[in-house]
Amino acid sequence: MVTRIGILTSGGDAPGMNACIRAVVRASIYNGLKVTGIMRGYAGLLAGEFIPLDVGSVGDIIHRGGTILRTARSMEFMEKANQDKAATILGQAGIEGLIVVGGDGSFRGAMTFIERGIPVICIPGTIDRDIPGTEYTIGFDTAVNTVLDAINKIRDTATSHDRTNVIEVMGRSSGHIALQAGLAGGAESILVPEVPFDLDKVCLRLLRGHDRGKLHSIILVAEGVGSAVKIGENIEARTGLETRVTILGHIQRGGSPTALDRLWASRMGAQAVALLLQKKGAVMLAVEKGELVEKDLVEALQSKNELDMGLYQLSGVLSI
Ligand code: ATP
Repeated sequence: MVTRIGILTSGGDAPGMNACIRAVVRASIYNGLKVTGIMRGYAGLLAGEFIPLDVGSVGDIIHRGGTILRTARSMEFMEKANQDKAATILGQAGIEGLIVVGGDGSFRGAMTFIERGIPVICIPGTIDRDIPGTEYTIGFDTAVNTVLDAINKIRDTATSHDRTNVIEVMGRSSGHIALQAGLAGGAESILVPEVPFDLDKVCLRLLRGHDRGKLHSIILVAEGVGSAVKIGENIEARTGLETRVTILGHIQRGGSPTALDRLWASRMGAQAVALLLQKKGAVMLAVEKGELVEKDLVEALQSKNELDMGLYQLSGVLSI
């Protein structure tokens, strides 16, 4: 019977991580388990930065962005000797099962414990939604809504001045945020790393809209596509339309999580505890066809994270 579990957040922070920590702690205590909070991901684990988590310690955090356990990237932890050391530290702290909330890099880190006989349940938490094997990650919905809010605001001023606006959003290797926020925000063009783009076509579309009296145009660019500033300069040079560029940056990481992110974070946190109680490990929680499912971690990490091409094509149809 497991008596103590540990939880850490790792990689980039994402709104909803706190709701997940809260769910893990409360579901554990409800089931008679003790919970140790590990600060700053694998870096804090190696430094032995542990805090006991009780019911009250996760009060008043469900609505807060970021993560009370803080997060980090640890180069030290990439070394095998330090992975051995980390597993020993967990054992010394009496931690018999671990819950890791983070991205696929963090999950690869989690594999090192599984290989050493410590069960780990991985919960997808990243605003980018770029984890293989799941159609949802904690924080993605909040980030999309933050971008949508920015689009709405930029659209107001764009219309008043008859301007074209290029908005750069996060997504170094994936265009999920750009695609979903762009579709929901009525962007004219959405540029994502997964699909090569033709700037001439983007410009043609802009000019066509302008000719039929459109007062504003929004182009959404995922950061992985290239410099939004350069794209904006090129658009202005080719079309003669006044163009402004906005880089949203870290504003997309923060903020109070949406209801959707809080709900999934709460469900995933509680389910992760249930799985450890069932003596399961090497599992990644995922959302598939709208349902919460458990996946073999190794298989999930071997699969590919793909852009929804149906949605991408729809965005093209709706912005003719
Ligand atoms: P995000 O998608 O938000 O960037 P992530 O979890 O993918 O999150 P990474 O920086 O890739 O972020 O990984 C977090 C940490 O996990 C790393 O700093 C490292 O300590 C550990 N890690 C990543 N990859 C591995 C690996 N292959 N083996 C062991 N540990 C790893």
